[in-house]
Amino acid sequence: MSRLVIIGAGIAGHTAALHASGKLKGHELIVISPNGKWNWIPSNIWVGVGQMKPEQVLFPLAPVYKKLGVNFIQAKALSIHPEGDDETANPFVSVEYTSEDKVGVTEKVEYDYLMNATGPKLKFEATPGLGPEKNSVSVCTAPHAAEASRQLNEVIERMKKGEKKNILIGMGHGQCTCQGAAFEYLFNVEFLLNKKGVRDKANIVYVSNESSLGDFGIGGSHIKKGGYITHSRIFTESLFTERGIRWVTGAHVKEVGEKEAAYETLSGEEGTLKKDFSMLIPPFSGVGLKAFNKSGEDITSELFAPNGFMKVDADYTKKPYEEWSADDWPKTYQNSTYKNIFAVGIAFAPPHTISKPMFSPNGTPIFPTPPRTGMPSGVMGRIVALGIVDMIKGKTDKPNWSASMARMGAACIASAGFNPFNGTAVSMTMYPIVPDYERFPEHGRDLKYTSGEIGLAGHWIKHLLHFAFIYKGKANPFWKVVPE
Ligand SMILES: Cc1cc2nc3c(=O)[nH]c(=O)nc-3n(C[C@H](O)[C@H](O)[C@H](O)COP(=O)(O)OP(=O)(O)OC[C@H]3O[C@@H](n4cnc5c(N)ncnc54)[C@H](O)[C@@H]3O)c2cc1C
Repeated sequence: MSRLVIIGAGIAGHTAALHASGKLKGHELIVISPNGKWNWIPSNIWVGVGQMKPEQVLFPLAPVYKKLGVNFIQAKALSIHPEGDDETANPFVSVEYTSEDKVGVTEKVEYDYLMNATGPKLKFEATPGLGPEKNSVSVCTAPHAAEASRQLNEVIERMKKGEKKNILIGMGHGQCTCQGAAFEYLFNVEFLLNKKGVRDKANIVYVSNESSLGDFGIGGSHIKKGGYITHSRIFTESLFTERGIRWVTGAHVKEVGEKEAAYETLSGEEGTLKKDFSMLIPPFSGVGLKAFNKSGEDITSELFAPNGFMKVDADYTKKPYEEWSADDWPKTYQNSTYKNIFAVGIAFAPPHTISKPMFSPNGTPIFPTPPRTGMPSGVMGRIVALGIVDMIKGKTDKPNWSASMARMGAACIASAGFNPFNGTAVSMTMYPIVPDYERFPEHGRDLKYTSGEIGLAGHWIKHLLHFAFIYKGKANPFWKVVPE
């Protein structure tokens, strides 16, 4: 009997567990995650504007895993011991329980195969004053989003009384990713202010580390739109201009105060932005897992990159931007030292960014880190899980799959206003996610599959996907028909 242990039950880990369960008869599948509930994170932005309640984007995991025959351990993984220790020769993960009945209890969970799907640590501490404990809100978790909605409502009430307010939304640091989430929240807030009849009382500013609008951490993209080719920068600038939203790009937010945020830009400009309400996304790092060898020596730097993400089969050689290649990106997500360890979703260390690295005259890095959005995270989870199942069943002794982001397409629907009649969403597709100038010399991507449109249909699709993914997450009948 073999045991597959998945750490992290987010989009990547839970998708992996869904697909592996039922295929491991006679073997064991364990999922370890600190939260008892699954969060459909993309709908958090709607919680943040009061269009959904946290309960609508969360559901308990234990009953789902019981139904699937998966052992669920509600705990936080602390460290990986790929060679065992002086008590056991078997590799194990050291965990600390978070479930009410066993909170604080530590345990060793042995594994034959380990999948790290622990997602990001929200690194609010990287910017003084950033985050829900301090001077800005977030929509990265359902409780954060509920608090964002509460504070937004307070500001709206003041605007209804005739007060002018400054709304600041964007990225809270020069090294953030997840610009799409900030974009969605920004447009949903603007839509809500219109609905509440107070749009004229709001000065809305978007602040971002993207060198220009429409970069989205993927270095921007040429897109096909209405039969002609345009750039995502022009498309996005039009959307902002139509809505009267001002933007400050190429910006590193240095400090978030109660009433203003200080920033520096790529051109060396220093400034402050006034704010009565601010939603700023934090930078991400790995969740801080440690690793130890058999004699208890710390080997964290062998398994993890300095940013805390796990090293896999990428080419991590330092090379200039001009020499980056699509081939640098991992294909199997297997750790090169310990072949029974894999990392998927946000947890794997990318070889480098996708957007061009840029620095302010002070030397401050101001460029987006690479996004690993829901669709590729889910696809990686599925493909790697099914590959590990094949390894467990003896069908192969080495990875027989490939799921490179340079060979993978993605579809992204970004909500721009929640309403069944006049809501909108931007629907974007791209292939591949990581541009490949060898295969597509002109634009880096295949424009047959790289497009962008805004409209009401997008809103309906985004809303239907909310129900479809929660249905699938609960492993309800025929869940497999819902793709990643
Ligand atoms: C507000 C917002 C909106 C978004 N909207 C979209 C969208 O519209 N479309 C899209 O494609 N993407 C969207 N994304 C991105 C998407 O949510 C992520 O790409 C996706 O969640 C990544 O999946 P993951 O499994 O790697 O990480 P996560 O989904 O974050 O899952 C990580 C899991 O690991 C667990 N974990 C953490 N630490 C430990 C530990 N020490 N031990 C064990 N488990 C641990 C966590 O509790 C969690 O269960 C959005 C993101 C945000 C923040």
